[in-house]
Amino acid sequence: MSPSSKPIVIKKIEVRLLRLPLITTFTTGFGTINYKETVVVRLEDSDGVVGWGEGAALSFPNYSPETAITTYLGLKEYLLPSIVGKRISGPEGLDNLYSQVKGYHFAKTAIDCAMWMICSIKSQQSLKQLLGGKSESVAIGESIGIKNSIDETLEEISLRLDQGYQRIKIKIKPGWDVELVRKVRAKFSDIPLMVDANSSYSLNDVPIFKKLDKFNLMMIEQPLGDTDIVDHSFLQKEITTPICLDESILSVEDARKAIKIGACKIINIKPGRVGGISESKKIHDFCQDNNIGVWCGGLLETGIGRAFNIALSSLPGFKYPADMSPSSFFYKEDLIDPTYEVDKNGYIAIPTATGLGYNLEMKRINKYTKQKYNTRAY
Ligand SMILES: [Mg+2]
Repeated sequence: MSPSSKPIVIKKIEVRLLRLPLITTFTTGFGTINYKETVVVRLEDSDGVVGWGEGAALSFPNYSPETAITTYLGLKEYLLPSIVGKRISGPEGLDNLYSQVKGYHFAKTAIDCAMWMICSIKSQQSLKQLLGGKSESVAIGESIGIKNSIDETLEEISLRLDQGYQRIKIKIKPGWDVELVRKVRAKFSDIPLMVDANSSYSLNDVPIFKKLDKFNLMMIEQPLGDTDIVDHSFLQKEITTPICLDESILSVEDARKAIKIGACKIINIKPGRVGGISESKKIHDFCQDNNIGVWCGGLLETGIGRAFNIALSSLPGFKYPADMSPSSFFYKEDLIDPTYEVDKNGYIAIPTATGLGYNLEMKRINKYTKQKYNTRAY
């Protein structure tokens, strides 16, 4: 069923580039930063109903070619002008309107989510209901980055397990893999444990994965190239641990191809990466039909983006804990208040209210806005 009964006409649009201070610093090959840039859009329809959405690309092109700056420009220059003033059936009608715009998945996510929010308010159904979600809460796992020592990693795992997190994911890279996992397993023999390689290996490393195969891991995430599916299908035949694809899957079409050639048994769905909640649901549905598990990843979205990820995770195919640490771990202030919390058993409750499901903090949105653009349809 379409989430909206009558067409939506967007009359006003606003896009903002924000810079939020982080509690901890972030180091990549581009340097160290202590903030997170993100982009939010506000759409208002001809009935005065308002929807917000977020495109949380990173500040540098180290996860995807799109960055916060290009998300902002893509929205302002290409995407928002193609939807303003048009009669749109709902989120499902967006693809046709900007069929000329390749890529810009984070920018498209912001619009897609804002449309879902408008549909939620107009239909008086929560996002979860609109999406067809079932669960009342989503299980949360914690992701642990590359630390200075194995002991430091073990300490952080203990802390996160004490806090109730339902699975532990550790980042690996060449030289920081088998020994690390061996020591983690020696101390925590039966916890749900997985590793994420963020594309740092090649097929020459099959022997490493055969060793990792012995540690009863839930999955190995994105071991090979970030645009590859073919080599992953060779690796999957060599090991019994399920391969989970993240970076390689940008659409339901990518998912179909990867599954067809046996490149993975699990997919990490990050709505920002695939262009929104609508495409995420298509991937979920396709995976469910093909007996492939999915779970919801994240990219440091503020509470605005997270609200949609949380609602999406209520769908029945989301079988593994999500990467969704509380925003209090990394943001000094979230853009929703109160923000979502992970309870002591490692769950986030899925909101039942209509719209975003959380209260927007306009003062903070204004405070952290660095650039703003708005227009109106006449
Ligand atoms: Mg990943």
